[in-house]
Amino acid sequence: MDNSLIREKAHEMAEWMADYFENIDQYRVLPDVQPSDIKRQLPSEPPQHPEIWETIMKDFNDIIMPGITHWQHPGFMAYFPASRSAPSVFAETLTATLGAQCMVWYTSPAAEELEDRTMEWLRQMIGLPKDFTGVIQETASASTLIALLMAREKKTDFDVNKKGLYGQPPFRVYASEQIHSSINKAVRIAGLGEDHLVLIPCLDDFAIDTVALRAAIEADLRNGFQPLALIGAFGTTSSAALDNLEELAQIAGDYQLFFHVDAAYCGNALVLPEIRELANGIERADSVVFNPHKWMFTNFDCSAFFVKDTHLLTQVFSITPAYLKTPQDLLVHNYRDWGIQLGRRFRALKLWFVLRYYGVKGIQEKISNHIEYGKWLAAEMRQTEGYEVVAPVLFNLVCFRYLPSKIKGNAEAVNAFNQEVLRKINESGDLFLTGTTLGDQYVIRIVAGQTDTKKEDLEKAWKLIKKTVNQLEPTD
Ligand SMILES: *Cc1c(COP(=O)(O)O)cnc(C)c1O
Repeated sequence: MDNSLIREKAHEMAEWMADYFENIDQYRVLPDVQPSDIKRQLPSEPPQHPEIWETIMKDFNDIIMPGITHWQHPGFMAYFPASRSAPSVFAETLTATLGAQCMVWYTSPAAEELEDRTMEWLRQMIGLPKDFTGVIQETASASTLIALLMAREKKTDFDVNKKGLYGQPPFRVYASEQIHSSINKAVRIAGLGEDHLVLIPCLDDFAIDTVALRAAIEADLRNGFQPLALIGAFGTTSSAALDNLEELAQIAGDYQLFFHVDAAYCGNALVLPEIRELANGIERADSVVFNPHKWMFTNFDCSAFFVKDTHLLTQVFSITPAYLKTPQDLLVHNYRDWGIQLGRRFRALKLWFVLRYYGVKGIQEKISNHIEYGKWLAAEMRQTEGYEVVAPVLFNLVCFRYLPSKIKGNAEAVNAFNQEVLRKINESGDLFLTGTTLGDQYVIRIVAGQTDTKKEDLEKAWKLIKKTVNQLEPTD
């Protein structure tokens, strides 16, 4: 592309972006497409000859856009949010424009030093003590895997890195049965075996039962297993349940377990000092992960991983062939040694833009508002005949179900009814929610934490929920 065309198209792109920010609510939140609808419109062979820009953009608008799920739509209240904000988007375009690959200090000193600084800011912002050091990973999944590898190598004095797991006793990893699937995946990849992930039952509030946890560890010790790691949830995915981190820290200490805290979503709320007492004990963890890409207005991917023992971390990963040696190796953080990947994107830039543009105060205000909206909705539901809020609402996630009076004694029918409510809501194109099971109850989850979520978005969603329930409620 020659420079004059770049200049022209950059302006067009900016217009496109601004339009999308402005008009996002004009789209259906969930696209109305069936599997292969998009693929069918794309040639099965690659283009042999250059195509003109206008046709590429036209196809983007005509083929790709109709197949997009609009995560930033005000009616997107499914899963957990994926963050986006204008300062973050602009920083991402700068990152892409620079095209720098930031594996070591030498390959972009500013990227390394900005990551160092912004992670130190984040540490202070969520109230972690000074003995934690942060690094950006791509996801919480990767961060948890890294934590388990640290646990494994610490326990075996780096023997597994050298010799593999041959001859080691079977290691055990403990977490609640509400834990995220990324932990199962990490246990698999770390070679520990999913059978050795011990899932501990939960209490009524869906937090781990620490009495059952101690009993499970004791039973394992009697049976020749080697307890290795404990993963605590600060906010489970199904219901944002909080494990008692204080008690978990105590148990981890008693049995010399590596203690990792998965705070992927709710960790963002620790920016509010009044939330921090809910996380007491987190200061005794060996590692903590939370995702600014979920609820701190920073585009995917940006997962903040904090560890106490950076020496252990880099020893797990550091391999320095001659071609990667640099003169500054002893003076700087070479982040290639802090995780799985060698090549690294410049991800600290967007975080820096976001933290500066909103400031700690601005971020606190947004997250605090989101929590208030969640609590408002939960209160509305509790006051409305037939609705049941199924788990404690400490953040902006509400798990609910509706019990039609005609069938409320029939557990299966109630589950089926709520599944149907969800299906019908998602069909509308105005609101997108997801469901989960808590115990044997099927529940609908609603969570709104986009950068510009407003109370009226929740009010609109609540109206649509009630309308849908009314339409489907069995009369006779
Ligand atoms: C979303 C989530 C994850 C996974 O996050 P990724 O960054 O997508 O890997 C892990 N744990 C919890 C509790 C989550 O909510």
